[in-house]
Amino acid sequence: MDCIFCKIVNGDFNTKFVYENDYVAVFKDINPKAPIHLLVVPKKHVESLNELDDKNLMGELLSAVRETTKKLGIKSYKTLINTGKEAGQEVFHLHLHILANA
Ligand code: 5GP
Ligand code: ZN
Repeated sequence: MDCIFCKIVNGDFNTKFVYENDYVAVFKDINPKAPIHLLVVPKKHVESLNELDDKNLMGELLSAVRETTKKLGIKSYKTLINTGKEAGQEVFHLHLHILANA
């Protein structure tokens, strides 16, 4: 499967992860829309939130948001999930945006 986020979480591009565990990797967005713009990405390929039926993974994604922001000392931030092309989803491997001012 030709999925850019699968390749990134598999380490194919040596992307630096700001946080990682068995389920999730977090890295910087290549085209940041805020001073801090991170992507929280499940290691398992799931196309979008519509295909996410694993409640454990749902919890892991939000838990990774908390672990990442805690680690980086980010206290105030927005989270965003685009689901479907019409809503602005460009990469069809589920990801959660973290957006913050420095
Ligand atoms: P979406 O619009 O699907 O919710 O968000 C996709 C995000 O992935 C965009 O903010 C875009 O800048 C980011 N992105 C796309 N390709 C890459 C990539 O190869 N590396 C990284 N780090 N981010 C990417
Ligand atoms: Zn993928």
